Amino acid sequence: MEYVKSKIRDIIDFPKPGIIFRDLTTMLKDAKAMHMVADGLASLYRDKGITKVVGIESRGFIGGSILAYEIGAGFVPARKPGKLPADTISASFEKEYGFDTIELHADAITPDDIVVIHDDLLATGGTMNAAYELVKTMNPKKIYINFIVELSALNGRDVLPKEAEVTSLIVY
Ligand code: 5GP
Repeated sequence: MEYVKSKIRDIIDFPKPGIIFRDLTTMLKDAKAMHMVADGLASLYRDKGITKVVGIESRGFIGGSILAYEIGAGFVPARKPGKLPADTISASFEKEYGFDTIELHADAITPDDIVVIHDDLLATGGTMNAAYELVKTMNPKKIYINFIVELSALNGRDVLPKEAEVTSLIVY
């Protein structure tokens, strides 16, 4: 994954002073890197009987869709409030400034499902933890958690449930 990592661009002071933003768009536009990410994600989950991949809006839609296609699973979008048209369930979580909310369609996951929740990047873990709690209310057989990139200095793993067997392709 060193090649893939080399394609991620660091943006200093974005979105505010003091933050180093890991810009994955430079990785996404590189065909070889995308191929390696697709293969890497698929090899982690191919033999786990996954039936649904939940992708977190919006950057989690990209890798989540690729993973779902690669392993023959369905794709479920976890969206920002007011975007999903049918009945929804929602979870709120604390961000740096104030609160945020994510929603899922109430019929998106059933107790027969084996789910992997995917996002592009793990920072503090707040976003993924909310998604996990939301998916859990639908009682699937098992929930896994996956990222392309993990920022280990922020210790996001510590707030995520151990039973979700968290994986990431690239660690900073
Ligand atoms: P957390 O909730 O773990 O603190 O933040 C993770 C969420 O914020 C993810 O949805 C991710 O897309 C976004 N995010 C936070 N920092 C970065 C970053 O440096 N690069 C990218 N690409 N996304 C980030």
